[in-house]
Amino acid sequence: MKVIKTIAEYRKIRCSLDCPIGFVPTMGYLHEGHISLVREARKKNLSLVVSIFVNPTQFGPKEDFNTYPRDLERDLTLLDDEGVNIIFCPSIVEMYPPGFDCWIEVTQLSNRLEGIARPGHFRGVTTIVAKLLNIINPDRAYFGQKDAQQASIIKKMVSDLNLDLKIVVLPTVRGNDGLAISSRNVYLNKEERKAAKILFKALNIAERLHLNGENDARLICNEMTKIIESEPLASIDYISIADSNTLNELDKIIKPALVSLAVFIGKTRLIDNIILN
Ligand code: AMP
Repeated sequence: MKVIKTIAEYRKIRCSLDCPIGFVPTMGYLHEGHISLVREARKKNLSLVVSIFVNPTQFGPKEDFNTYPRDLERDLTLLDDEGVNIIFCPSIVEMYPPGFDCWIEVTQLSNRLEGIARPGHFRGVTTIVAKLLNIINPDRAYFGQKDAQQASIIKKMVSDLNLDLKIVVLPTVRGNDGLAISSRNVYLNKEERKAAKILFKALNIAERLHLNGENDARLICNEMTKIIESEPLASIDYISIADSNTLNELDKIIKPALVSLAVFIGKTRLIDNIILN
């Protein structure tokens, strides 16, 4: 496994990599969710590149960029065990040199859900992902359904900018209690970790109601709200049932619907989602 820190160094060896090249962009502090993407990419591609870069431009001024968990040594050991060929872990100045002044934005899809709660977040995400795709030049790039809106926005960017690669979206990996695995789960204390199960419980209620024939999105949201409000450590940021393509809110569930939510457990903001077909 080669660890590469500069764009020039990567470009030098890019032409010697066997194709197809799979690419998994991450912010590091790897967990089973990331590893599921790495394993699938390893199976389907002859070369595998993973990036580790905590992207400052996708964090708001009051968000956790400085305290975001990092452990590069541990990440490198894990990725070596998974048979990754190249780790790309650039510095901030390598990706954003002085005078950097170009932004990529998928405007409509970014102005909903997480985009309302985190202004500028998706502009940072699409800019860094576009840059990474231009640098790595992969045949396939892998993303998690855990960040459903991010995956939709990246697919739209790839389509609108005619980028020549396939975006693969893989299912959310959960703990035994249903909590979606996330780097930010380390912020939860023991009590909060237990309370955090409420997100998956609420999503399950939505799924059960829909399977039993309920199509009224507002009614389903109300039931989810009740469940979450029964947990004293939880406070709802948003609950949404939206068209999974346009992310427009739905009144009636008549097409694949994205049920998504953001909930504070104590001070930690967690997101999760499921798709109703
Ligand atoms: P991050 O390091 O948080 O930027 O995540 C890197 C990639 O891993 C993104 O495509 C995420 O959607 C994906 N990911 C994060 N958590 C999970 C999970 N629990 N299951 C599946 N994919 C995940």
